[in-house]
Amino acid sequence: MVQYLIMTAAEKSSLARFVDLAAASLRGGYGGEQREYLFADDAAAGELDGLEQIAADVRCCEHCRLCKTRKNAVPGEGALSPLVMVIGEGPGADEDTTGRPFVGRAGQLLDKMLAAIGLSRETNCFIANVIKCRPPGNRDPQPDETAACASFLSRQIQLLGPHFILCAGRVAAQTLLQTAEPIGRLRGKIVEFQSGGKSIPFIATYHPSALLRNEELKRPAWEDLKLLRSALDKVML
Ligand code: URA
Repeated sequence: MVQYLIMTAAEKSSLARFVDLAAASLRGGYGGEQREYLFADDAAAGELDGLEQIAADVRCCEHCRLCKTRKNAVPGEGALSPLVMVIGEGPGADEDTTGRPFVGRAGQLLDKMLAAIGLSRETNCFIANVIKCRPPGNRDPQPDETAACASFLSRQIQLLGPHFILCAGRVAAQTLLQTAEPIGRLRGKIVEFQSGGKSIPFIATYHPSALLRNEELKRPAWEDLKLLRSALDKVML
């Protein structure tokens, strides 16, 4: 069995100095000159923190099989102190190609839906997904894949501290609320979502792809958006 030890920068420097001393003594004596080491990976990690660190961790993640088929992981993007965090299911083909969330047809509709209630990824929303890599053929993510990815989203939620979560679609709603209830029963109401000891108001609605397939879902989705807008107006008073 292999045992992994994580070395700090200080431990790596000590080890490097020890190797220098050993090499000098094998050459016939210590010359008196000592080298100092700064490890590039530690220097880079020190500079990266917060969201950028999460995005870097997502991009090199190999926690599940989806890393083998992705072109690009899709960490998420948007405002850094968001009023609303929009959480979808996972990248599709366009997102996998670009590394950006919700940029295909469903994404364009999502942007229009958000704009209709005064929201945008440029100003007051952050957009992410429960799963950061595309499942092949856009199949539903499997439970072990969502479990392997869960810590990235919870780190994002805790760091961003959104006032509200808008959850797009059945898969995201069932994953986040840990339920098998159909989306028709999960939408249309505000519930409290628990994250890192904090409670965040949360509303689920239909996924924009479902709206593109079925026009009849547009009216209830609009009701959900209006409910979100009136809740936001209350917190902004
Ligand atoms: N569908 C999603 O759920 N997320 C995306 O980023 C794109 C499409």
